[in-house]
Amino acid sequence: MSKYCEDCGCKVYSGRCSNCHEASFIYHEQYMNPDYLGNGQQLTPPDENSDFMRKVREQDASLRR
Ligand SMILES: [Zn+2]
Repeated sequence: MSKYCEDCGCKVYSGRCSNCHEASFIYHEQYMNPDYLGNGQQLTPPDENSDFMRKVREQDASLRR
């Protein structure tokens, strides 16, 4: 089931727009996805204090509203 963002028209995965929630999208669909690399390995998530993870937390918080 695929959906498109009401704001920008980009594809929405698991409730996250690949554009509006880009950091959260990348984090959950790539870093947290055991199938993403296809070789049984997972990407190492960025540092908790990085700008990227700060954005992920902000975007996740806005998604729960
Ligand atoms: Zn969007």
